[in-house]
Amino acid sequence: MSRYAFGIDVGGTSVKLGLLTIDGEVVEKWEIDTDTSEGGKNILPDIAASVKDKMAEKGIKQEDVAGAGIGLPGPVDENGVINKAVNLHWDRKFNIAEELSNLLSGMHVKAGNDANVAALGEVWQGAGKGYKDMVMVTLGTGVGGGIIHDGKIVAGADGAAGEIGHLCIRPDETVSCNCGNCGCLEQYASATGIVRLVKEELEASDEDSLLRSGEVSAKTFWEAVGKGDKLCIRVAERFGRYLGIGLSIIGGVLNPEVFVIGGGVSRSGDLILPFIEKNFKAHVFHACANAKFVRATLGNDAGLIGAAKMVID
Ligand code: ZN
Repeated sequence: MSRYAFGIDVGGTSVKLGLLTIDGEVVEKWEIDTDTSEGGKNILPDIAASVKDKMAEKGIKQEDVAGAGIGLPGPVDENGVINKAVNLHWDRKFNIAEELSNLLSGMHVKAGNDANVAALGEVWQGAGKGYKDMVMVTLGTGVGGGIIHDGKIVAGADGAAGEIGHLCIRPDETVSCNCGNCGCLEQYASATGIVRLVKEELEASDEDSLLRSGEVSAKTFWEAVGKGDKLCIRVAERFGRYLGIGLSIIGGVLNPEVFVIGGGVSRSGDLILPFIEKNFKAHVFHACANAKFVRATLGNDAGLIGAAKMVID
């Protein structure tokens, strides 16, 4: 019987790999560089070699392994077909699960979008443990999302379900989002978005603020909110309004049990939750208002843990 699974989380600069037991314990984790040269053609062979090396090192045989799950920064459908990954310099559509499986002597491989896979990790071993219907929101440089329904990833027809960051929340916005549209949630709720809102607010008046001197970042911003900085609290209210309204729409569609808030912004502590929750409750349909809000607990390991879960069942 298989006792292990590999979890792989591919990023633009490094690949995180993990050897897990099928009960979700991380036995060992390590990283390799992401070689994006020559159209990223070495990425999968490098991963396969690293997995094989680990099996040899640990004396693990193919039959001891349930499989390898892989999370990728691009849209991946239920069958493991990825449609381009800009950060990896992949500009084609192909079945990544099949290709990696071939490189791993036929090992069972499943692939998913990295944000969706991280959501699966949190629902299996993290903040979403015990829930079956969960939405994870990742607040980082951008805003990502993953939907878990009945314990499984909702990938969508094109592998792009859960792209919460590009919900249009302000149709009258004139500044463009990275995606080309205007008024995306990501423009207000990401780390970059918060910095933009703070700078706008600082320029609009001479009002005192802890952020008048020193670096303006999502981290210093939330610290200032924690210290009662009035200007920053006003920006936090705006952040909470946009994100809360965005999540109230998702809440009305999916009626999840819990929203798990992850990513760098969420590490600023529980103080961000009330700003979101208050606005969610003010706008969501009453029968969907019971959703809980919690912070993610797995940090950067959510991806590799969730990736492994895809091949364990
Ligand atoms: Zn956008």
